[in-house]
Amino acid sequence: MARSNRPRRENSRRRQSKRNQEWQPLDVERLQGGMRRTEFKRGREYTVQPIRAERAQKVYTCPGCSGDIMPGTAHIAAWQADHIMGDASALADRRHWHSHCWKIA
Ligand SMILES: [Zn+2]
Repeated sequence: MARSNRPRRENSRRRQSKRNQEWQPLDVERLQGGMRRTEFKRGREYTVQPIRAERAQKVYTCPGCSGDIMPGTAHIAAWQADHIMGDASALADRRHWHSHCWKIA
C-alpha cells in the first residue's frame, strides 16, 4: 500500500529560520596566524603567538638555534606571561622562534 508522506502544514504559520547570522568583527589574532596560547616551559608561563608566513616581514634571530628566521617563514613569538615587570615589558621582550626550536626548547 502506498503511504502518503506529505509534510503537514502547521496552520500556514511561517517558520522563521534560526540561522540568524550575526556580523562578526575581524579577529586580529586569527589574521596574525592563529590563536594566542599559553605554554609552560621549565616552570615558567609563556604566551605564544603564531606568526603566519605572510606576516613575517623581518629577519629575526632564533634564540633556540641562533639562526635567522627569514621573512616569509611561519614561526612563533613567545614572551613570558608572568613577567615581573608586567605584560608590556614582557611583550617588548618577546622573542621570535622557529616553531620547531620552540617545541624542543
Ligand atoms: Zn631556530
